[in-house]
Amino acid sequence: MSLLSVKNLKIYYKTPVGFVKAVDGVSFDVKEGEVFGIAGESGCGKSTLVNSLILRKPPMTHMGGEAIFKGKDLMKLDKEEERKIKYTELSIIPQYAMNALNPTKKIKDIVWDLAREHGAEDRKEVEKLLRERLRMVKLSEKVADMYPIELSGGMRQRTTMVVSTLMNPDLLIADEITSALDVTTQRVVLELLHYFMREGIVKAIIFVTHDLSLLDKIADRVMILYAGKVAEIGPTEEVINSPAHPYTSLLIESLPRIGVHYNQTKLKGIPGYPISLLNPPAGCRFYPRCPYSMDVCQNTEPKMVSVGDNHLAACHLLGVRRNE
Ligand code: SF4
Ligand code: MG
Repeated sequence: MSLLSVKNLKIYYKTPVGFVKAVDGVSFDVKEGEVFGIAGESGCGKSTLVNSLILRKPPMTHMGGEAIFKGKDLMKLDKEEERKIKYTELSIIPQYAMNALNPTKKIKDIVWDLAREHGAEDRKEVEKLLRERLRMVKLSEKVADMYPIELSGGMRQRTTMVVSTLMNPDLLIADEITSALDVTTQRVVLELLHYFMREGIVKAIIFVTHDLSLLDKIADRVMILYAGKVAEIGPTEEVINSPAHPYTSLLIESLPRIGVHYNQTKLKGIPGYPISLLNPPAGCRFYPRCPYSMDVCQNTEPKMVSVGDNHLAACHLLGVRRNE
């Protein structure tokens, strides 16, 4: 069952020189019980996409499309409705989560403020749950009585995860939460996300990263974004082992040890730079960098085509191959 269903979503940034088309007609859905990965280079629209789902602030502007979450269009909620569902139904661990906690308050006070805002009345109960959850993620209960500054980076990260999930949100969004961490702490964080799913604390996770090799470890399905559009979407294993879009292939080739490329020794970078999203080209947005580009790619936008079970990609090459 779909928990979140996003259709043709357009989120632009209003600037003095025009609209930056950061998310430009993106569609996907997230089902109960799955970890859904979103990947792509920095600036491809990943953070804009997930941040647009709740508590949008200017200059971020909704230009079209919908995001149906538990029957309601997130694009149509008023601020009060948004505030109510944040943490309780939909929670985001932000990109710079380690610095997300108010430094002037103890963890237990941060949590109590949040819980009270959402209607909790029994402070003891809330604190009991906090201490329980801290123990669950292998942190000392004493963290509850500490200020964020007293915690190491890794501990702060785990604490933020506890705070973000304390009210058992249905959907948890994790935006680049492992990028600032060492490999060992990264593993702990991924294990924790698995744990939240297993224990039924959350029903689904959107895991955003620029690092495809992490998705290999955590995501059931993955969506590859390029310059504000979906390049490819499908089951993680299939996308990684048989990528259909040239951008996905290059992204995988640029990684050290992943899927079938495990033994490769020479890493390739992706040539060129992403295009400006102020005046994106009419055709395929990957055209200027694509080693396989054809005339048709310059002016005609490729449509999403099916390349396998629940596996879609947007590239003219696939049309050519299919007609061969
Ligand atoms: Fe390359 Fe053309 Fe496919 Fe775009 S549509 S990825 S330019 S082959
Ligand atoms: Mg980002």
